[in-house]
Amino acid sequence: MASIISRFAPSPNGYLHFGHAYSAVLAWRAAQRKGDRFLLRIEDIDTWRARPKFEQAIYKDLAWLGLSWEQPVRRQSEHMDDYARALDRLKDRDLLYPCFCTRKEIQAEVARSQTAPHGPEGFLYPGTCRDLSDEERSERMASGEPHALRIHMDRAVKQAGPLSWTDRKAGEIKADPESLGDVVLARKDTPTSYHLAVTVDDALQDVTLVTRGLDLFHATHVHRLLQALLDLPTPEYRHHRLIRDNQGERMAKRRRSETLAQMRDRGVPASDVIARIDAIISA
Ligand code: GLU
Repeated sequence: MASIISRFAPSPNGYLHFGHAYSAVLAWRAAQRKGDRFLLRIEDIDTWRARPKFEQAIYKDLAWLGLSWEQPVRRQSEHMDDYARALDRLKDRDLLYPCFCTRKEIQAEVARSQTAPHGPEGFLYPGTCRDLSDEERSERMASGEPHALRIHMDRAVKQAGPLSWTDRKAGEIKADPESLGDVVLARKDTPTSYHLAVTVDDALQDVTLVTRGLDLFHATHVHRLLQALLDLPTPEYRHHRLIRDNQGERMAKRRRSETLAQMRDRGVPASDVIARIDAIISA
């Protein structure tokens, strides 16, 4: 069997909780044979939310759990050129358009239109800026109006043709990127987006296995499309269950789930965390 290059790719915008530990340990364990590699990537494109203290805590938490990873660690904020090159290629294929809409405007447009399309992650971008004239686009850009870059999804899907990807649990999945609509590939506030950066990085780092939560299952449809458009290889995916807290709610930074650092501080040994992960895996 070919060697596995596996990765864990947290965003340093909060402390890790048990759900992250579960994901990291799964990714790490998948790459323990001779020749396998395990990478850690810091996904810090949200430069104003990312904090050095959270990044340091990621290293500390993962080392506490007994994980080791290759150096140097890739930090997305240091690789904006790579994302710009990918955007240029998509521009050359006429697959991007500037979107000037604010979040409020999009919400208002969706509320106005009874037929606004919805996808698995809520409403889709209603396409307000898709059909602006070249003249209007140039004028608004020249006047410095902030804009994002969105993918022209219909066109992109036509160019790419039918696609599929493989999930270790769910098997072969027909890619359905249209279900997410004209997603943003470069944000107003940072010249890339999660979808673009993660796809480019997994390819540049030769990742062969992407381990992440089921909340990102649908995102993979878009990533598969980007791989086809940018001539990038397609890794295998493992979307794992989402870990819930005692109240049955999904653990999340914004829910202030207990962090690994807090568990450590109250004297929980790392072996207990690992045992809890093993119990979930074998349940
Ligand atoms: N950085 C993302 C997060 O922390 C995960 C991205 C991924 O694994 O693809 O939610």
